[in-house]
Amino acid sequence: MKIGVLALQGAFREHRQMLERCGCEVIEVRRPHHLEEIKGIIVPGGESTTIGKLLNDWELMEPLRQKGQEGFPIFGTCAGMIILAKEIAGSQQPRLALMDIRVIRNAYGRQVDSFEMPLAIKCLDKTPFLGVFIRAPYIDQVGPNVEVLASHDDKIVMVRQGNLLACSFHPELTKDERVHRYFLSLIG
Ligand code: GLN
Repeated sequence: MKIGVLALQGAFREHRQMLERCGCEVIEVRRPHHLEEIKGIIVPGGESTTIGKLLNDWELMEPLRQKGQEGFPIFGTCAGMIILAKEIAGSQQPRLALMDIRVIRNAYGRQVDSFEMPLAIKCLDKTPFLGVFIRAPYIDQVGPNVEVLASHDDKIVMVRQGNLLACSFHPELTKDERVHRYFLSLIG
């Protein structure tokens, strides 16, 4: 199966390696025509303002938004989750605005810039998944069509809305393939 990783900025190499371990052929997406070759795409962590700007500059914003609206599977991690959100607290930065979620950027404050936390994820087996959070956002509001897959301390950190999946943390920085395999299962 050919899967894309948006490769404009951020942690796309780690996603690539994880997807290859899961047996996928990976296309690094930088141009609109790359979207035609793939069955789904991961929008990686990085800096969401930069990724949003580059999506516009490289003329990927509109075609990717349209595909997302038509049921194309998109998985956003960390900054990628911000890019998928309809609402970003206090920001009008460019984004796909596909998911009915409100995100708070850099929401954990400076003292806990980065941390790890075992998470119970609803769509996986019972073994906790190690969430690696790096200047992470969280979700404080979701629409009725959004399924919450993981949260801790009242903070929502993983959600699904049909073909769209998003999480606050970085599953590509672990050796645990379960979250990526779950995304691939949505593609079928
Ligand atoms: N803080 C970053 C942002 O707001 C996200 C951090 C990350 O992706 N690791 O874009």
